[in-house]
Amino acid sequence: MVGSAWGATDSMSVKSADVDVVVVGGGGVAGLYLLYRLRGLGLSVTAFEAGSDVGGTWYWNRYPGCRCDVDSLEYSYSFANDLQQEWHWPERYGTQPEILKYVNHVADRFDLRRYIQFNTRVTSAVFDTNSNLWTVTTDQNGIIRAPFCVMATGNLSTPRKPDFPGIDDFQGEWYHTGLWPHEGVDLTGLRVGIIGTGSSGVQSIPHIAAQAKHLHVFQRTANFSLPARNEPMNAQTELTHKAEYPVRRKAAYDTPFGIAGYPLPDKSALEVSADERDQIYERKWEQGGSISFLYSFNDLLTNKAANDTASEFVRQKIRSTVKNQEVAELLAPHTHPMGTKRLILDTNYYETYNRDNVTLVDVKSAPIEEITRTGLRTAQAGYELDAIVFATGFDAMTGAMLDIDIRVEGGPSLKEAWSAGPRTYLGLMIAGFPNLFMIMGPGSPSVKAQMILGAEQHTDWIAECLQHLRSRELSRVEATAEAEENWVIHVKEVADSTLYPLANSWYLGANIPGKPQVFMPYVGGFGPYKKKCDEVVANGYEGFVLRR
Ligand SMILES: Cc1cc2nc3c(=O)[nH]c(=O)nc-3n(C[C@H](O)[C@H](O)[C@H](O)COP(=O)(O)OP(=O)(O)OC[C@H]3O[C@@H](n4cnc5c(N)ncnc54)[C@H](O)[C@@H]3O)c2cc1C
Repeated sequence: MVGSAWGATDSMSVKSADVDVVVVGGGGVAGLYLLYRLRGLGLSVTAFEAGSDVGGTWYWNRYPGCRCDVDSLEYSYSFANDLQQEWHWPERYGTQPEILKYVNHVADRFDLRRYIQFNTRVTSAVFDTNSNLWTVTTDQNGIIRAPFCVMATGNLSTPRKPDFPGIDDFQGEWYHTGLWPHEGVDLTGLRVGIIGTGSSGVQSIPHIAAQAKHLHVFQRTANFSLPARNEPMNAQTELTHKAEYPVRRKAAYDTPFGIAGYPLPDKSALEVSADERDQIYERKWEQGGSISFLYSFNDLLTNKAANDTASEFVRQKIRSTVKNQEVAELLAPHTHPMGTKRLILDTNYYETYNRDNVTLVDVKSAPIEEITRTGLRTAQAGYELDAIVFATGFDAMTGAMLDIDIRVEGGPSLKEAWSAGPRTYLGLMIAGFPNLFMIMGPGSPSVKAQMILGAEQHTDWIAECLQHLRSRELSRVEATAEAEENWVIHVKEVADSTLYPLANSWYLGANIPGKPQVFMPYVGGFGPYKKKCDEVVANGYEGFVLRR
């Protein structure tokens, strides 16, 4: 039986529940904050986590060079002032081990592990409308019932499995950056191939090149990457930032990307002379970071001609960094406007192609045909390799949820409901799936904002909604089909008013063969999105039906 005041309430039809809330994906930053908030409300909660420990993204992605690309003073929890004041980030952008250490610290500090069943993957979640209960089943033969279920399964948590023919016959070792062995991998003296030049590939390539005897980089699409300008944490910067935390964190909620400290530009790139434009780009290039660069002008993501100036600036930087101009031309992106795919931050990525032991292979013109016993073969040539690294990314935003058999008894499954692409109201709930919440689901800013803040905002919204239901002795909440339809239309309209749809990106699902192509994140800005979520509540949970 439920141990909380809520479950004990007679008016609730939750008598046979084991807990009030089941959290799927308890180990990530979202799952942990959910546990903290929901326990704080006195609700009973059980979380399941496929990994053997906490960390989520930072537990699974242990490839060399893995780090965040938002300053760590920002990419951290804001909910506990003591925590943010006491924690010291040694570098501007935390490395994966540092971030993992931080997440572990948070789990211990707030005593959250005890609510998580590790090494346990949820396989199905079925809602019974009569009893008002979700029955959640795991791969450990566990079954748990709860009136509410929250999917904190992550946007980038389902690695895209390599599907090249012949992979099972490969005699060397292969690795996926998103499932990197915990004990580390020693590539010293090996002939290594890496497939994929998205964020994980770009971060790891300089590190792998430093170890390997020879590194072949197999590139299908060149991506834009900017210098991170990582550095040891400056003591004065840290001091000032921490003193300003209360103001900064509040301000972050009103910004487009959930990150404060970057004044919004008020000029178009086309309003200034070419010289002035280049000076501005040059200054931002030297500062490092993606937001600063994107904020060079106010129309880089909405006006193609404006974007062309920034794209060309970056291409020129690549040409001046990479000595071999044929290689530079291959690395210079021409397939999409800068910023419309995830803008990468790197340390010495382009410089790495000046090493004698690195070869760039264009697999757009000569695609990979098969993995062989001793390497791989493209349409043009064969490559002998001892190890292959797949930096092939994720089935982003929907992969983890669609891996679970989610359904309402007698109704369509989530797979069926989303067969033409994900549909949600605010990325928080789905019409036809009562009492099922998502953290940073499709249709929310999610991957287009600082995601720890996103997780906190969604969790706070859900916690307040549950509190609202409980205080009114209500037991069910569901998005209306109309509100969902209007939101889906709005998300698309907003995306269509930008340059984002011009890229074949994972934001659209374009990296997964057969995945319906729908632009998934909400790109209207974190500030306007949060305002909308708050207004919905102020208007009595507009677009939701709440009942006993
Ligand atoms: C290499 C990399 C760098 C990144 N850098 C940044 C950055 O700089 N800034 C930023 O804002 N974001 C960044 N991100 C995005 C990052 O994913 C988020 O910032 C954040 O960590 C997401 O937290 P989460 O808890 O929502 O999801 P996750 O951290 O993905 O956690 C989800 C958890 O759910 C578990 N899970 C999934 N399905 C199941 C299931 N069926 N049963 C049980 N458990 C399940 C997973 O094992 C996982 O532990 C980065 C992502 C990657 C991959």
